[in-house]
Amino acid sequence: MVPDFKQKRPLAQAGRALAASLLIATGAALAPAPAARAALPTLGDGLELTAAAERKLGDRIIRELYRDPDYIDDAVLHEYLVGIFGPLRAAARARGELGADIDERFAWELLMGRDRTVNAFALPGGYFGVHLGLIGVTATRDELASVLAHELSHVTQRHISRLIAQQGRQTPLMIGALILGALAASKSPDAAQALMVGGQALAVQNQLNFSRDMEREADRIGYGLMQPGGFAPQGFVGMFDKLQQANRINDNGSWPYLRSHPLTTQRIADMQSRIAHDAPRPAPASMEHLLMAARARVLMRPGQDAWRQWLAAPQDAGFAARPASERATAWYAATLSAVQLSDWQAARRAVAGLRDAVQGDAPAVRQARLLGAEVEMAAGAPAAALAVLDEMPTAGTPARPELVLRTQALLRTGDAAAMTGPLQTRVATHPQDAAAWLLLAQVWRQQGQNLRAVRAEAEAQVAHHDYAAAVDRFKAGQDLARKSAGAADYIEASIIDTRLRAVESLLREQAAER
Ligand SMILES: [Zn+2]
Repeated sequence: MVPDFKQKRPLAQAGRALAASLLIATGAALAPAPAARAALPTLGDGLELTAAAERKLGDRIIRELYRDPDYIDDAVLHEYLVGIFGPLRAAARARGELGADIDERFAWELLMGRDRTVNAFALPGGYFGVHLGLIGVTATRDELASVLAHELSHVTQRHISRLIAQQGRQTPLMIGALILGALAASKSPDAAQALMVGGQALAVQNQLNFSRDMEREADRIGYGLMQPGGFAPQGFVGMFDKLQQANRINDNGSWPYLRSHPLTTQRIADMQSRIAHDAPRPAPASMEHLLMAARARVLMRPGQDAWRQWLAAPQDAGFAARPASERATAWYAATLSAVQLSDWQAARRAVAGLRDAVQGDAPAVRQARLLGAEVEMAAGAPAAALAVLDEMPTAGTPARPELVLRTQALLRTGDAAAMTGPLQTRVATHPQDAAAWLLLAQVWRQQGQNLRAVRAEAEAQVAHHDYAAAVDRFKAGQDLARKSAGAADYIEASIIDTRLRAVESLLREQAAER
Protein backbone atom coordinates (compact mmCIF):
# COMPACT_ATOMS: atom_id res chain seq x y z
CA MET A 1 0.00 0.00 0.00
CA VAL A 2 0.94 3.62 -0.25
CA PRO A 3 2.96 5.03 2.62
CA ASP A 4 1.13 6.41 5.60
CA PHE A 5 1.30 10.08 6.32
CA LYS A 6 -0.10 12.05 9.20
CA GLN A 7 -2.96 14.13 7.97
CA LYS A 8 -2.57 17.80 8.54
CA ARG A 9 -5.86 18.94 7.07
CA PRO A 10 -8.44 16.20 7.33
CA LEU A 11 -10.97 16.43 4.53
CA ALA A 12 -13.65 14.13 5.77
CA GLN A 13 -12.42 11.21 7.80
CA ALA A 14 -9.26 10.14 9.54
CA GLY A 15 -7.27 7.60 7.63
CA ARG A 16 -4.50 7.13 5.22
CA ALA A 17 -3.57 10.31 3.47
CA LEU A 18 -1.62 11.00 0.36
CA ALA A 19 0.17 14.14 -0.56
CA ALA A 20 -0.28 15.57 -3.98
CA SER A 21 2.22 17.63 -5.84
CA LEU A 22 -0.24 17.96 -8.72
CA LEU A 23 -2.70 19.66 -6.46
CA ILE A 24 -0.71 22.73 -5.67
CA ALA A 25 -1.99 24.52 -8.73
CA THR A 26 -5.60 23.87 -7.86
CA GLY A 27 -5.13 23.86 -4.12
CA ALA A 28 -7.27 26.86 -3.34
CA ALA A 29 -10.27 25.11 -4.74
CA LEU A 30 -9.97 22.20 -2.34
CA ALA A 31 -12.12 23.75 0.34
CA PRO A 32 -15.30 24.74 -1.46
CA ALA A 33 -17.76 27.06 0.22
CA PRO A 34 -20.78 25.23 1.66
CA ALA A 35 -23.07 27.03 -0.78
CA ALA A 36 -21.08 25.83 -3.75
CA ARG A 37 -21.16 22.32 -2.38
CA ALA A 38 -24.92 22.32 -2.03
CA ALA A 39 -25.32 23.42 -5.64
CA LEU A 40 -23.84 20.17 -6.87
CA PRO A 41 -26.36 18.39 -9.04
CA THR A 42 -24.49 15.45 -10.48
CA LEU A 43 -22.98 13.34 -7.71
CA GLY A 44 -24.33 11.78 -4.61
CA ASP A 45 -27.35 9.61 -4.19
CA GLY A 46 -27.32 7.37 -7.22
CA LEU A 47 -25.46 4.07 -7.40
CA GLU A 48 -23.62 5.22 -10.48
CA LEU A 49 -22.55 8.46 -12.00
CA THR A 50 -24.20 9.24 -15.32
CA ALA A 51 -21.90 8.80 -18.30
CA ALA A 52 -22.10 12.53 -19.03
CA ALA A 53 -21.14 13.50 -15.48
CA GLU A 54 -18.30 11.01 -15.41
CA ARG A 55 -16.95 12.35 -18.71
CA LYS A 56 -16.99 15.92 -17.38
CA LEU A 57 -15.12 14.84 -14.28
CA GLY A 58 -12.57 13.07 -16.47
CA ASP A 59 -12.11 16.18 -18.64
CA ARG A 60 -11.38 18.18 -15.51
CA ILE A 61 -8.80 15.70 -14.28
CA ILE A 62 -6.90 15.28 -17.51
CA ARG A 63 -6.66 19.05 -17.99
CA GLU A 64 -4.27 18.88 -15.03
CA LEU A 65 -2.48 15.81 -16.36
CA TYR A 66 -1.78 17.51 -19.70
CA ARG A 67 -0.03 20.27 -17.72
CA ASP A 68 2.06 17.76 -15.79
CA PRO A 69 5.71 18.07 -16.83
CA ASP A 70 5.86 14.27 -17.12
CA TYR A 71 3.10 14.16 -19.74
CA ILE A 72 4.62 13.05 -23.03
CA ASP A 73 3.00 13.16 -26.47
CA ASP A 74 5.24 10.75 -28.31
CA ALA A 75 3.59 10.06 -31.66
CA VAL A 76 5.32 6.69 -32.14
CA LEU A 77 4.53 5.16 -28.74
CA HIS A 78 1.05 6.67 -28.69
CA GLU A 79 0.20 5.10 -32.04
CA TYR A 80 1.51 1.77 -30.76
CA LEU A 81 -0.70 1.92 -27.66
CA VAL A 82 -3.75 2.98 -29.67
CA GLY A 83 -3.10 0.03 -31.99
CA ILE A 84 -3.47 -2.29 -28.98
CA PHE A 85 -6.29 -0.46 -27.28
CA GLY A 86 -8.52 -0.11 -30.36
CA PRO A 87 -9.00 -3.86 -30.94
CA LEU A 88 -9.65 -4.40 -27.21
CA ARG A 89 -12.35 -1.74 -27.26
CA ALA A 90 -13.86 -3.26 -30.40
CA ALA A 91 -13.87 -6.65 -28.67
CA ALA A 92 -15.61 -5.16 -25.62
CA ARG A 93 -18.23 -3.67 -27.91
CA ALA A 94 -18.72 -6.93 -29.82
CA ARG A 95 -19.07 -8.91 -26.59
CA GLY A 96 -21.68 -6.53 -25.23
CA GLU A 97 -19.41 -5.34 -22.39
CA LEU A 98 -19.31 -1.78 -23.63
CA GLY A 99 -22.65 -0.01 -23.43
CA ALA A 100 -23.61 2.32 -26.29
CA ASP A 101 -24.02 5.23 -23.89
CA ILE A 102 -20.47 5.26 -22.55
CA ASP A 103 -19.06 4.11 -25.89
CA GLU A 104 -20.32 7.34 -27.45
CA ARG A 105 -19.84 9.73 -24.55
CA PHE A 106 -16.44 8.71 -23.23
CA ALA A 107 -13.14 10.04 -24.51
CA TRP A 108 -11.25 6.75 -25.03
CA GLU A 109 -7.97 8.57 -24.89
CA LEU A 110 -4.60 7.30 -23.74
CA LEU A 111 -2.21 9.66 -21.98
CA MET A 112 1.40 8.71 -21.46
CA GLY A 113 3.62 9.73 -18.58
CA ARG A 114 7.40 9.75 -18.78
CA ASP A 115 7.52 8.09 -15.39
CA ARG A 116 9.87 5.19 -14.78
CA THR A 117 7.38 3.61 -12.41
CA VAL A 118 5.42 0.59 -13.62
CA ASN A 119 1.86 1.80 -13.71
CA ALA A 120 -1.30 2.14 -15.73
CA PHE A 121 -4.64 3.45 -14.55
CA ALA A 122 -8.16 4.16 -15.69
CA LEU A 123 -9.62 7.58 -15.04
CA PRO A 124 -13.23 8.74 -15.11
CA GLY A 125 -14.71 9.38 -18.53
CA GLY A 126 -12.70 6.87 -20.56
CA TYR A 127 -9.24 8.35 -20.10
CA PHE A 128 -6.33 6.03 -19.42
CA GLY A 129 -2.87 6.76 -18.14
CA VAL A 130 0.11 4.61 -19.08
CA HIS A 131 3.59 5.15 -17.67
CA LEU A 132 6.57 4.55 -19.94
CA GLY A 133 7.88 2.33 -17.12
CA LEU A 134 5.09 -0.14 -17.80
CA ILE A 135 5.71 -0.26 -21.55
CA GLY A 136 9.42 -0.67 -20.82
CA VAL A 137 9.04 -3.83 -18.69
CA THR A 138 6.63 -5.70 -20.95
CA ALA A 139 8.20 -8.50 -23.00
CA THR A 140 5.35 -8.86 -25.49
CA ARG A 141 2.49 -6.93 -27.01
CA ASP A 142 0.16 -9.41 -25.28
CA GLU A 143 1.46 -8.48 -21.83
CA LEU A 144 0.85 -4.81 -22.51
CA ALA A 145 -2.58 -5.69 -23.91
CA SER A 146 -3.47 -7.59 -20.72
CA VAL A 147 -2.97 -4.47 -18.60
CA LEU A 148 -4.98 -2.30 -21.00
CA ALA A 149 -7.74 -4.96 -21.16
CA HIS A 150 -7.93 -5.01 -17.37
CA GLU A 151 -8.09 -1.21 -17.10
CA LEU A 152 -10.60 -0.96 -19.94
CA SER A 153 -12.82 -3.43 -18.10
CA HIS A 154 -12.80 -1.28 -14.95
CA VAL A 155 -14.38 1.39 -17.14
CA THR A 156 -16.85 -0.79 -19.08
CA GLN A 157 -18.04 -2.38 -15.83
CA ARG A 158 -18.61 1.13 -14.41
CA HIS A 159 -16.33 0.45 -11.43
CA ILE A 160 -15.13 4.03 -11.47
CA SER A 161 -18.59 5.49 -11.47
CA ARG A 162 -19.55 3.23 -8.57
CA LEU A 163 -16.50 4.28 -6.56
CA ILE A 164 -17.24 7.91 -7.20
CA ALA A 165 -20.89 7.51 -6.28
CA GLN A 166 -19.69 6.02 -2.98
CA GLN A 167 -17.95 9.29 -2.24
CA GLY A 168 -21.38 10.62 -1.39
CA ARG A 169 -21.65 14.34 -1.13
CA GLN A 170 -18.18 15.31 -2.28
CA THR A 171 -18.06 17.73 -5.16
CA PRO A 172 -16.55 16.84 -8.54
CA LEU A 173 -13.73 19.20 -7.70
CA MET A 174 -12.90 17.27 -4.56
CA ILE A 175 -13.19 13.92 -6.28
CA GLY A 176 -10.88 15.20 -9.00
CA ALA A 177 -8.47 16.34 -6.31
CA LEU A 178 -8.57 12.93 -4.63
CA ILE A 179 -7.76 11.17 -7.88
CA LEU A 180 -4.99 13.58 -8.83
CA GLY A 181 -3.55 13.27 -5.35
CA ALA A 182 -3.53 9.50 -5.43
CA LEU A 183 -1.85 9.63 -8.85
CA ALA A 184 0.83 12.03 -7.71
CA ALA A 185 1.61 9.91 -4.69
CA SER A 186 1.71 6.70 -6.72
CA LYS A 187 4.22 8.30 -9.09
CA SER A 188 6.68 9.20 -6.45
CA PRO A 189 6.13 8.37 -2.80
CA ASP A 190 9.36 10.11 -1.84
CA ALA A 191 8.46 13.37 -3.52
CA ALA A 192 5.05 13.27 -1.93
CA GLN A 193 6.57 12.79 1.48
CA ALA A 194 9.03 15.64 0.98
CA LEU A 195 6.19 17.96 0.04
CA MET A 196 4.26 16.83 3.06
CA VAL A 197 7.11 17.56 5.44
CA GLY A 198 7.48 20.95 3.83
CA GLY A 199 3.89 21.64 4.75
CA GLN A 200 3.11 22.53 1.14
CA ALA A 201 1.00 19.58 0.26
CA LEU A 202 -2.65 19.05 0.70
CA ALA A 203 -3.70 15.84 2.27
CA VAL A 204 -6.17 13.67 0.47
CA GLN A 205 -7.49 10.31 1.37
CA ASN A 206 -6.74 7.09 -0.29
CA GLN A 207 -10.32 6.03 -0.60
CA LEU A 208 -10.60 5.38 -4.30
CA ASN A 209 -9.27 1.86 -4.47
CA PHE A 210 -11.15 -0.80 -6.34
CA SER A 211 -12.50 -3.66 -4.26
CA ARG A 212 -11.12 -7.17 -4.65
CA ASP A 213 -14.31 -8.20 -6.40
CA MET A 214 -13.87 -5.39 -8.88
CA GLU A 215 -10.28 -6.48 -9.52
CA ARG A 216 -11.36 -10.06 -10.14
CA GLU A 217 -14.09 -8.86 -12.45
CA ALA A 218 -11.66 -6.68 -14.41
CA ASP A 219 -9.36 -9.70 -14.73
CA ARG A 220 -12.18 -11.95 -15.93
CA ILE A 221 -13.74 -9.49 -18.39
CA GLY A 222 -10.34 -8.25 -19.54
CA TYR A 223 -9.17 -11.81 -20.12
CA GLY A 224 -12.21 -12.40 -22.31
CA LEU A 225 -11.21 -9.50 -24.55
CA MET A 226 -7.78 -10.86 -25.37
CA GLN A 227 -8.48 -13.56 -27.96
CA PRO A 228 -11.24 -11.64 -29.81
CA GLY A 229 -8.95 -8.60 -29.79
CA GLY A 230 -6.25 -10.61 -31.52
CA PHE A 231 -4.01 -11.12 -28.48
CA ALA A 232 -2.78 -14.27 -26.77
CA PRO A 233 -4.54 -14.58 -23.37
CA GLN A 234 -1.21 -15.84 -22.02
CA GLY A 235 -0.23 -12.18 -21.90
CA PHE A 236 -2.07 -12.07 -18.59
CA VAL A 237 0.09 -14.87 -17.22
CA GLY A 238 3.29 -13.17 -18.34
CA MET A 239 2.22 -9.96 -16.65
CA PHE A 240 1.17 -11.75 -13.46
CA ASP A 241 4.56 -13.49 -13.38
CA LYS A 242 6.26 -10.11 -13.61
CA LEU A 243 4.12 -8.67 -10.84
CA GLN A 244 4.80 -11.71 -8.68
CA GLN A 245 8.55 -11.43 -9.18
CA ALA A 246 8.44 -7.75 -8.32
CA ASN A 247 6.43 -8.67 -5.25
CA ARG A 248 9.13 -11.07 -4.10
CA ILE A 249 11.94 -8.60 -4.67
CA ASN A 250 9.82 -6.36 -2.45
CA ASP A 251 8.10 -3.21 -3.47
CA ASN A 252 10.43 -0.25 -3.47
CA GLY A 253 7.86 2.11 -4.91
CA SER A 254 8.69 1.64 -8.56
CA TRP A 255 5.76 -0.73 -9.07
CA PRO A 256 2.71 1.30 -8.11
CA TYR A 257 0.61 -0.97 -10.31
CA LEU A 258 1.31 -3.67 -7.75
CA ARG A 259 0.07 -1.48 -4.92
CA SER A 260 -3.20 -0.69 -6.63
CA HIS A 261 -3.55 -4.25 -7.93
CA PRO A 262 -2.38 -6.56 -5.14
CA LEU A 263 -1.84 -10.07 -6.38
CA THR A 264 -4.04 -12.23 -4.26
CA THR A 265 -3.67 -15.99 -4.49
CA GLN A 266 -7.29 -15.94 -5.63
CA ARG A 267 -6.52 -13.70 -8.62
CA ILE A 268 -3.67 -15.95 -9.65
CA ALA A 269 -5.73 -19.13 -9.15
CA ASP A 270 -8.58 -17.65 -11.24
CA MET A 271 -6.15 -16.88 -14.03
CA GLN A 272 -4.54 -20.32 -13.93
CA SER A 273 -7.89 -22.07 -14.18
CA ARG A 274 -8.84 -19.89 -17.15
CA ILE A 275 -5.61 -20.66 -18.94
CA ALA A 276 -6.04 -24.39 -18.29
CA HIS A 277 -9.26 -24.34 -20.33
CA ASP A 278 -7.70 -22.59 -23.29
CA ALA A 279 -5.61 -24.26 -25.90
CA PRO A 280 -2.04 -23.13 -25.33
CA ARG A 281 -0.91 -20.64 -27.91
CA PRO A 282 2.63 -19.43 -28.13
CA ALA A 283 3.05 -15.68 -27.90
CA PRO A 284 6.38 -14.80 -29.44
CA ALA A 285 7.47 -11.21 -28.97
CA SER A 286 7.17 -9.20 -32.16
CA MET A 287 10.26 -7.25 -33.13
CA GLU A 288 8.17 -4.09 -33.17
CA HIS A 289 7.15 -4.60 -29.56
CA LEU A 290 10.76 -5.02 -28.49
CA LEU A 291 11.65 -1.76 -30.27
CA MET A 292 8.74 0.07 -28.63
CA ALA A 293 9.68 -1.21 -25.17
CA ALA A 294 13.26 -0.03 -25.83
CA ARG A 295 11.93 3.37 -26.91
CA ALA A 296 9.97 3.65 -23.66
CA ARG A 297 13.04 2.76 -21.59
CA VAL A 298 15.19 5.41 -23.30
CA LEU A 299 12.54 8.15 -23.17
CA MET A 300 11.78 7.71 -19.47
CA ARG A 301 14.97 9.63 -18.69
CA PRO A 302 16.99 6.92 -17.00
CA GLY A 303 20.01 9.24 -16.88
CA GLN A 304 23.21 9.73 -18.85
CA ASP A 305 24.91 6.59 -17.53
CA ALA A 306 22.13 4.35 -18.79
CA TRP A 307 22.14 6.10 -22.19
CA ARG A 308 25.91 5.66 -22.49
CA GLN A 309 25.61 1.98 -21.61
CA TRP A 310 22.92 1.43 -24.23
CA LEU A 311 24.93 3.35 -26.78
CA ALA A 312 27.95 1.10 -26.13
CA ALA A 313 25.99 -2.18 -25.96
CA PRO A 314 26.38 -3.11 -29.68
CA GLN A 315 30.19 -3.05 -29.20
CA ASP A 316 29.93 -6.07 -26.86
CA ALA A 317 31.90 -9.18 -27.84
CA GLY A 318 29.70 -11.66 -29.66
CA PHE A 319 27.03 -9.05 -30.46
CA ALA A 320 26.95 -9.91 -34.17
CA ALA A 321 26.09 -13.54 -33.38
CA ARG A 322 22.97 -12.67 -31.38
CA PRO A 323 19.46 -13.12 -32.81
CA ALA A 324 18.24 -10.33 -35.10
CA SER A 325 15.49 -9.23 -32.68
CA GLU A 326 18.05 -8.79 -29.90
CA ARG A 327 20.40 -6.85 -32.16
CA ALA A 328 17.58 -4.67 -33.46
CA THR A 329 16.48 -3.85 -29.91
CA ALA A 330 20.02 -2.94 -28.88
CA TRP A 331 20.56 -0.80 -32.01
CA TYR A 332 17.23 0.98 -31.46
CA ALA A 333 18.15 1.78 -27.85
CA ALA A 334 21.64 2.84 -28.93
CA THR A 335 20.28 5.18 -31.62
CA LEU A 336 17.77 6.90 -29.39
CA SER A 337 20.29 7.12 -26.54
CA ALA A 338 22.75 8.81 -28.90
CA VAL A 339 20.01 11.33 -29.77
CA GLN A 340 19.48 12.03 -26.07
CA LEU A 341 23.24 12.55 -25.74
CA SER A 342 23.27 14.79 -28.86
CA ASP A 343 25.84 12.53 -30.50
CA TRP A 344 24.57 12.65 -34.09
CA GLN A 345 27.41 10.69 -35.63
CA ALA A 346 26.88 7.81 -33.22
CA ALA A 347 23.12 8.03 -33.82
CA ARG A 348 23.58 7.72 -37.59
CA ARG A 349 25.93 4.76 -37.18
CA ALA A 350 23.49 3.03 -34.83
CA VAL A 351 20.48 3.61 -37.06
CA ALA A 352 22.40 1.96 -39.93
CA GLY A 353 22.93 -1.08 -37.68
CA LEU A 354 19.22 -1.03 -36.83
CA ARG A 355 18.17 -0.94 -40.47
CA ASP A 356 20.39 -3.91 -41.16
CA ALA A 357 18.95 -5.93 -38.25
CA VAL A 358 15.25 -5.32 -39.02
CA GLN A 359 15.35 -6.45 -42.65
CA GLY A 360 12.36 -8.55 -43.66
CA ASP A 361 10.13 -7.44 -40.75
CA ALA A 362 7.83 -4.76 -42.19
CA PRO A 363 6.59 -3.11 -38.95
CA ALA A 364 10.15 -3.01 -37.60
CA VAL A 365 11.45 -1.63 -40.91
CA ARG A 366 8.94 1.21 -40.62
CA GLN A 367 10.00 1.92 -37.03
CA ALA A 368 13.64 1.99 -38.10
CA ARG A 369 12.84 4.54 -40.82
CA LEU A 370 10.82 6.71 -38.44
CA LEU A 371 13.73 6.66 -36.03
CA GLY A 372 16.11 7.50 -38.88
CA ALA A 373 14.02 10.57 -39.73
CA GLU A 374 13.90 11.51 -36.05
CA VAL A 375 17.70 11.34 -35.88
CA GLU A 376 18.08 13.66 -38.88
CA MET A 377 15.58 16.13 -37.42
CA ALA A 378 17.40 16.15 -34.09
CA ALA A 379 20.68 16.62 -35.94
CA GLY A 380 19.26 19.70 -37.67
CA ALA A 381 19.09 18.09 -41.12
CA PRO A 382 15.40 18.36 -42.16
CA ALA A 383 16.15 17.64 -45.83
CA ALA A 384 17.80 14.35 -44.86
CA ALA A 385 14.80 13.57 -42.62
CA LEU A 386 12.49 14.12 -45.59
CA ALA A 387 14.63 11.82 -47.73
CA VAL A 388 14.20 9.05 -45.14
CA LEU A 389 10.44 9.65 -44.91
CA ASP A 390 10.19 9.52 -48.71
CA GLU A 391 11.52 5.96 -48.64
CA MET A 392 8.27 4.89 -47.03
CA PRO A 393 5.20 4.01 -49.04
CA THR A 394 2.61 6.80 -48.73
CA ALA A 395 -0.76 5.36 -49.65
CA GLY A 396 -3.63 7.58 -48.53
CA THR A 397 -3.62 9.63 -45.34
CA PRO A 398 -0.29 9.49 -43.56
CA ALA A 399 -0.23 7.86 -40.12
CA ARG A 400 0.25 10.28 -37.24
CA PRO A 401 3.99 9.70 -36.65
CA GLU A 402 4.72 10.30 -40.36
CA LEU A 403 2.39 13.32 -40.42
CA VAL A 404 4.08 14.91 -37.41
CA LEU A 405 7.65 14.23 -38.56
CA ARG A 406 7.02 15.36 -42.15
CA THR A 407 5.35 18.58 -41.00
CA GLN A 408 8.17 19.34 -38.59
CA ALA A 409 10.74 18.79 -41.34
CA LEU A 410 8.85 20.91 -43.88
CA LEU A 411 8.39 23.70 -41.35
CA ARG A 412 12.18 23.82 -41.06
CA THR A 413 12.73 23.86 -44.81
CA GLY A 414 9.95 26.45 -45.21
CA ASP A 415 7.77 24.29 -47.49
CA ALA A 416 5.04 23.21 -45.09
CA ALA A 417 2.11 24.56 -47.14
CA ALA A 418 1.58 21.08 -48.61
CA MET A 419 0.79 19.78 -45.12
CA THR A 420 -2.23 22.06 -44.64
CA GLY A 421 -4.63 19.53 -46.19
CA PRO A 422 -3.45 16.43 -44.29
CA LEU A 423 -3.38 18.38 -41.01
CA GLN A 424 -6.87 19.77 -41.57
CA THR A 425 -8.08 16.23 -42.23
CA ARG A 426 -6.39 15.09 -39.05
CA VAL A 427 -7.99 17.71 -36.77
CA ALA A 428 -11.38 17.24 -38.44
CA THR A 429 -11.32 13.54 -37.55
CA HIS A 430 -9.37 13.92 -34.28
CA PRO A 431 -10.29 17.31 -32.78
CA GLN A 432 -8.64 16.25 -29.50
CA ASP A 433 -5.21 16.09 -31.17
CA ALA A 434 -3.69 19.22 -29.66
CA ALA A 435 -0.29 18.59 -31.24
CA ALA A 436 -1.85 18.49 -34.71
CA TRP A 437 -3.64 21.80 -34.02
CA LEU A 438 -0.34 23.37 -32.96
CA LEU A 439 1.44 22.10 -36.07
CA LEU A 440 -1.39 23.47 -38.19
CA ALA A 441 -0.99 26.83 -36.42
CA GLN A 442 2.70 26.90 -37.36
CA VAL A 443 1.96 25.94 -40.96
CA TRP A 444 -0.60 28.73 -41.26
CA ARG A 445 1.71 31.23 -39.63
CA GLN A 446 4.42 30.34 -42.11
CA GLN A 447 1.94 31.17 -44.88
CA GLY A 448 1.08 34.51 -43.28
CA GLN A 449 -2.40 33.27 -42.25
CA ASN A 450 -2.15 34.71 -38.77
CA LEU A 451 -5.86 34.70 -37.96
CA ARG A 452 -6.13 31.02 -38.78
CA ALA A 453 -2.96 30.35 -36.79
CA VAL A 454 -4.42 31.99 -33.68
CA ARG A 455 -7.64 30.01 -34.05
CA ALA A 456 -5.70 26.74 -34.31
CA GLU A 457 -3.76 27.67 -31.17
CA ALA A 458 -7.06 28.25 -29.39
CA GLU A 459 -8.38 24.88 -30.57
CA ALA A 460 -5.26 23.21 -29.18
CA GLN A 461 -6.23 24.58 -25.75
CA VAL A 462 -9.81 23.37 -26.20
CA ALA A 463 -8.43 19.92 -27.05
CA HIS A 464 -6.78 19.81 -23.63
CA HIS A 465 -9.93 21.17 -21.96
CA ASP A 466 -8.20 24.37 -20.91
CA TYR A 467 -11.14 26.60 -21.79
CA ALA A 468 -9.79 29.73 -20.07
CA ALA A 469 -6.61 29.64 -22.16
CA ALA A 470 -8.69 28.97 -25.28
CA VAL A 471 -10.90 31.99 -24.60
CA ASP A 472 -7.76 34.15 -24.33
CA ARG A 473 -6.55 32.97 -27.74
CA PHE A 474 -9.94 33.41 -29.42
CA LYS A 475 -10.09 36.97 -28.04
CA ALA A 476 -6.60 37.60 -29.38
CA GLY A 477 -7.98 36.45 -32.71
CA GLN A 478 -10.83 38.95 -32.49
CA ASP A 479 -8.35 41.76 -31.76
CA LEU A 480 -6.26 40.71 -34.73
CA ALA A 481 -9.31 40.67 -36.99
CA ARG A 482 -10.29 44.19 -35.87
CA LYS A 483 -6.79 45.59 -36.42
CA SER A 484 -6.49 44.14 -39.87
CA ALA A 485 -9.93 45.43 -40.88
CA GLY A 486 -10.23 45.72 -44.63
CA ALA A 487 -7.83 42.91 -45.37
CA ALA A 488 -9.56 40.76 -42.78
CA ASP A 489 -10.78 37.30 -43.54
CA TYR A 490 -14.47 37.73 -42.68
CA ILE A 491 -15.31 34.06 -42.74
CA GLU A 492 -12.42 33.26 -40.43
CA ALA A 493 -13.40 36.11 -38.09
CA SER A 494 -16.96 34.86 -37.84
CA ILE A 495 -15.76 31.31 -37.11
CA ILE A 496 -13.71 32.78 -34.25
CA ASP A 497 -16.77 34.64 -32.89
CA THR A 498 -18.85 31.47 -32.94
CA ARG A 499 -16.17 29.32 -31.34
CA LEU A 500 -15.51 31.95 -28.66
CA ARG A 501 -19.16 31.94 -27.63
CA ALA A 502 -19.24 28.13 -27.48
CA VAL A 503 -16.07 27.88 -25.40
CA GLU A 504 -17.13 30.70 -23.07
CA SER A 505 -20.24 28.72 -22.35
CA LEU A 506 -18.14 25.61 -21.56
CA LEU A 507 -16.00 27.71 -19.25
CA ARG A 508 -19.06 29.03 -17.39
CA GLU A 509 -20.39 25.50 -17.06
CA GLN A 510 -17.09 24.29 -15.64
CA ALA A 511 -16.93 27.16 -13.14
CA ALA A 512 -20.47 26.44 -11.98
CA GLU A 513 -19.58 22.83 -11.23
CA ARG A 514 -17.29 23.56 -8.34
ZN1 LIG B 1 -7.53 -3.04 -11.46
